[in-house]
Amino acid sequence: MKKIVLTKSGQLELELVEDDIQLQEGMVKVDVKACGVCGSDLSLIDGKRDITKELYFGHELSGIVTEVDDKSTGFKPGMRVATELARTCGQCWNCRNGLPNYCRSMNDALLPGGFTEKTLVHSTPDYGFLSLIPDTLDDVVASLLEPTNCAYHIAMKANLKPGDNVVVFGLGAMGIIAAIILKRLGAGAIICVGRRPARQEKARQTGIFDAVVGNDEEGMKQIQNIVGEKGADIVIEATGTPKVLSDALKTVRYGGRVVVGSVYHGTIPEFDPLPIFRKELTMVGAKGPTIYRTTDDRSAVVCMMEQVQDDLKKIVSVYDYKDAIKAFEDAKSGEAIKSVITF
Ligand SMILES: [Zn+2]
Ligand SMILES: [Zn+2]
Repeated sequence: MKKIVLTKSGQLELELVEDDIQLQEGMVKVDVKACGVCGSDLSLIDGKRDITKELYFGHELSGIVTEVDDKSTGFKPGMRVATELARTCGQCWNCRNGLPNYCRSMNDALLPGGFTEKTLVHSTPDYGFLSLIPDTLDDVVASLLEPTNCAYHIAMKANLKPGDNVVVFGLGAMGIIAAIILKRLGAGAIICVGRRPARQEKARQTGIFDAVVGNDEEGMKQIQNIVGEKGADIVIEATGTPKVLSDALKTVRYGGRVVVGSVYHGTIPEFDPLPIFRKELTMVGAKGPTIYRTTDDRSAVVCMMEQVQDDLKKIVSVYDYKDAIKAFEDAKSGEAIKSVITF
């Protein structure tokens, strides 16, 4: 089977390996159809995260269940699935206090991960990392479930009222998907802000947003022209660059809301926290994935994806397995908003 291997020295290699993956307790075996490249995968390659401490590589996958262990729940061979946090124990303190994304039962859910043609995924009564995918979604869109779950969490934390103006810092998948969802939920103007001209152009070409501007004086002026003097009702910070948080505090209105959906590496040397007090801001973090289910226990995020799939398709760059190295390169350079590799 095909496998994208990340060597200990941070090199990517395409290998053909024996399928010696034995079913393990509480796991289901999945034939991977598509797997997206996440910023956290790039951190592994850059050495910002330690590869020797990771059990899996690639977590944004869609595929078909081929085998299930007796102690696993919810799936049968032949079912179409994709990864997201779908079930936690419901018993630990975090679960009982509305924080299932910090459930004590969570552990390494995948083995060896989605950058291989076949992988095991955990699905037991106290911890599930798979949701069912309906035929209305194709394999590539389905592979966006996990990042869309995180973006949906950002959108939920934004507490949007219809008509609220939203400024999104960050033209990566997280910011863009959150913007797509907020628009679907009834936002007023949605303005996306980014640093790299190539990404700005890509985001503009989708035609989804009211404006896509640079993170510079000219961009800030354009934002003000749209949202007015008072500032934006909601600001999403999804750049991963700590100092952009200062820009977020400048852009939001009095009494506004800032949602931080970024994984930061580093700190802000001269951070001015005064606007938090002066403007009576609400600042909230959004750390997905977490659990969103409908009353009939489907994934609410899948339901949202069915509604916004045309927009999601506009932000994906699809690569065949043989071009996988390019998929990672384009994810890193910003040439692709979201790289997805198909097997
Ligand atoms: Zn991810
Ligand atoms: Zn729990």
